[in-house]
Amino acid sequence: MSEGILFVLSAPSGAGKTTLSNLVMDHFQALTPSISYTTRKARPGECNGVEYRFIDHAEFERMVNAGEFAEHADVHGNRYGTSKADLDALLTSGKDVLMDIDVQGAAQIRSSRKGGIYIFIVPPSMEVCEERLRARGAEDEESIQRRLEGARNEIKEAESYDYIIINDKLELAAETLRSVIVAEHAGGERVFNKVEEIFQLN
Ligand code: ADP
Ligand code: 5GP
Repeated sequence: MSEGILFVLSAPSGAGKTTLSNLVMDHFQALTPSISYTTRKARPGECNGVEYRFIDHAEFERMVNAGEFAEHADVHGNRYGTSKADLDALLTSGKDVLMDIDVQGAAQIRSSRKGGIYIFIVPPSMEVCEERLRARGAEDEESIQRRLEGARNEIKEAESYDYIIINDKLELAAETLRSVIVAEHAGGERVFNKVEEIFQLN
C-alpha cells in the first residue's frame, strides 16, 4: 500500500483553520487529523483525545526528552507537539494526514520529512482576525492580545508555503482547500509510482 499524503496547515489564530479543516475532513474518507499533544487547558466543549491530547508540563517534557515528537513548539505560552509514532502509523496505513500546526512546527517537519504539502490560511484582514477571535469567545483579553501580536510575524512565513488561501467567504475558502487536496492526488511522482505498480513498468 502506498503512503498517504501529509498536508500541513498553518495560520494565525482566528484565521479559521479549525473551521476549514472540519469542513474538508467530511469530504475525504482517507483524510484524518493528526491529534496533537498540548499543555493548554481544554476549552469548554473540547474532549481529551478528540481536539487534542491534554497533558501536563511534566509529561510533555518527558516526551520531548524521549524524542517522541516529530515536531514541537511553544505557541502563545503553551506547548504543542505531534507524536512521531502516531504520524508514521497514519501515513504508512495509507491515510492522508491533515496537521494543524504553527509555523515553527511546520518548519521542523519541512526540514525532517519529504513530500509534505504546506498550506497557509490567512484572514482577509487583521480587523477580521480580531473580530473572529472575539466571536469565538474562547480566550481572555490577554490571550487575544498575545495571539494578535503573533499574527503578523506568522503571516510573514506564508511565503515558504506551497499554497496560500485567504479565508474571507468560508465556502469559497473550503472549496479551494478541497481543490488543493484533490489536485495533489493527481500530482507528479506519487501518482507515477502507482502507475508503475499497476502496469508493472519496472
Ligand atoms: P483558528 O482555528 O484558525 O484559530 P477558528 O476556526 O476557530 O480559527 O475560527 C475562529 C472564529 O471565526 C470561529 O468562531 C469561526 O466560526 C469563525 N470563522 C472562521 N472562518 C470564517 C469565515 N470565513 N467567515 C466568518 N467567520 C469565520
Ligand atoms: P489553539 O490553542 O488555538 O488550539 O492553537 C494555537 C496554535 O497552536 C495554532 O496555531 C495551532 O496550529 C498550533 N498547534 C496546534 N497543535 C500543534 C502542534 O502539534 N504543533 C505545533 N507546532 N503547533 C500546534
